[in-house]
Amino acid sequence: MRKFKTESKKLLDLMINSIYTNREIFLRELISNASDAVDKLYFKSLTDKEIQLGKDELAIQVSFDKDARTVTVSDSGIGMTKDELDRNLGTIAHSDSMAFKMDNAESQGDDVDIIGQFGVGFYSAFMVAKSVRVVSKAYGSDEAWAWESDGVEGYTISEATREDHGTDVILTLKDNGENSDGTGENYDTFLSEYGLKSLIKRYSNYVRYPVQMEVSKTREKPKPEDAGDDYKPEYESYTEIDTINSMIPIWKRSKSEVTEEEYNEFYKTDFHDFADPARTFSIHAEGALSYDALLFIPSRAPYDLYSKDFKKGLALYSSNVLIMEKCEELLPDHYNFVRGVVDSQDLQLNISRETLQHNSQLRAIAKKVEKKITAELKKMRDNDREEYERFFENFGRGLEYGIYTSYGMLKDELAELLLFYSAKQQKLVTLDEYLEAAPADQKAIYYAAGESIDRLAKMPIVNTVLAKGYDVLLCTRDVDEFCFTAMMTYGRAAAEGEDAPEPLELKNVASGELDLATEEEKKEAEEATKENEALFTAMKDVLGDAVSSVTVSSRLTDAPACVTAAGPVSLEMERILAQTPDGADMKSERVLEINAKHAVFDVLKAAQEAGDADKVKLYTEVLYNQALIVEGMPIDDPVAYANAVTKLMA
Ligand code: ADP
Ligand code: MG
Repeated sequence: MRKFKTESKKLLDLMINSIYTNREIFLRELISNASDAVDKLYFKSLTDKEIQLGKDELAIQVSFDKDARTVTVSDSGIGMTKDELDRNLGTIAHSDSMAFKMDNAESQGDDVDIIGQFGVGFYSAFMVAKSVRVVSKAYGSDEAWAWESDGVEGYTISEATREDHGTDVILTLKDNGENSDGTGENYDTFLSEYGLKSLIKRYSNYVRYPVQMEVSKTREKPKPEDAGDDYKPEYESYTEIDTINSMIPIWKRSKSEVTEEEYNEFYKTDFHDFADPARTFSIHAEGALSYDALLFIPSRAPYDLYSKDFKKGLALYSSNVLIMEKCEELLPDHYNFVRGVVDSQDLQLNISRETLQHNSQLRAIAKKVEKKITAELKKMRDNDREEYERFFENFGRGLEYGIYTSYGMLKDELAELLLFYSAKQQKLVTLDEYLEAAPADQKAIYYAAGESIDRLAKMPIVNTVLAKGYDVLLCTRDVDEFCFTAMMTYGRAAAEGEDAPEPLELKNVASGELDLATEEEKKEAEEATKENEALFTAMKDVLGDAVSSVTVSSRLTDAPACVTAAGPVSLEMERILAQTPDGADMKSERVLEINAKHAVFDVLKAAQEAGDADKVKLYTEVLYNQALIVEGMPIDDPVAYANAVTKLMA
């Protein structure tokens, strides 16, 4: 009996005692080793004319025996000598990530995620097997050797027989566990044709050699010559060797070779969507870092896209072997909806989650992926507007959210991709389109935020701005205004040979100074505010803390009054924040603005002069609440408001 080296022993303990749920990856590891072994022989054959390889010799065989509870993976690859068996299977390759994994596992007593994510090679067999026998004959040798172990203390190596070069790895599966609570591991799925086939398809579909299995099928028996009219076809079962994997990864094939249909099928099966993707695109990078990526923009949002449980990520392959189904590091949050595959031969198979984050190759790929997605979205925006609008309906919120959560840092990348409803053009426009249509003297990008386009379109302030000849973006997504607040300004990108145009401030028409009035109008409003100080003080007293001031408006034409916000929080932001756990006390600083040219104002003035405090109170309350209703804000006391209106009518 030879003893395992210390660190191999540690890992084995982890494997055996692991409650790891992805035990099934053992098959991926064994097939990947078999594929490597065939690779080695294949490469040898390229330089050594003596080696003639038949097509069959490249195939990898998977089989099982239900009664003996064995699963066998065989290859006709390069094989291992006695020494190699000892060295390769008795010691685990020492690498930093492995050492890290094990230290971590020990200190946290948590083997769960560490083992499974990345494959730890051959030893993963002990997650499912109580013993493993490896029979191998090295190419060019005439001795075969068997390595055997129960994975606990050590292993034995003894003489064996094998016809040809290559390796059989024979696992005797653990017994199905029976825990006292009725749970327990069940390994029977690995002893079924269906179970093994599914695993091969799932994890090893793109291994470049055929992975074959004997499968049972049925066929119709030939019709006897003397069959009468009432002959019913008879069936028989038979077995046949089938190649289970598709071998050539679809992302490695050139685009002209693959039909749209095939891409769509691949997308739907691999990413579990029932709808075809909206867009399919790929990256083929060669050079210091070579990789292929195949990316999809779904045509609809998954139901859980905006929930906490949603996991972004691309499938990560290294030389056609799946390393990870969702590698988050490959996608930025704002493109979390993108699905796809990245395959790089330059990444190691046993790359760990911990080292992934610091992996510069992966970061370089992620950067390129992000750029490519942005470019693809721009293309879609410019060439297929209808489809882009559908896309934006599904995923636009995430782009805005990206700008918001990056405090505007992503503005340059993402702002061009946004769409908003234009009150003037009555359709969705980009910010660039908004600016292109804007008169030269326009000082800001105007928007109004609220619950519905219809309502916003009727807001008096919106109409005032429209009447001045300026378009207003009607924003109905909860994140719109937060995104704008993070952006602060937006300027069109400079065309060739042009200086970049001055960026314009993004301005809520119902917040702060609007700067639309002429100097004269402003002065008038200021004077009127001063002249009527006593009235406004009285009105402010009526409203108390609800408003910070009452002033004459320079932004109203027809409506008698409006409520605006003076500080950084707009009325709409207040409404949205009120629905979040920690935003409830974020209040806007409200200002009641009165239209001094409106007949109601004259009535108010007369009441103030006549000392009719009751009337001033009644009018003030009605005006304030009306303005809120028009702007889609809830009013504090609907009953009091109704009573006040009734009083006016009687
Ligand atoms: P890795 O594949 O990352 O090197 P493994 O633990 O999967 O690590 O395998 C350890 C070593 O055992 C391999 O590097 C290889 O030399 C040897 N080996 C495993 N399986 C086979 C096989 N089927 N044929 C030849 N050599 C093998
Ligand atoms: Mg391996």
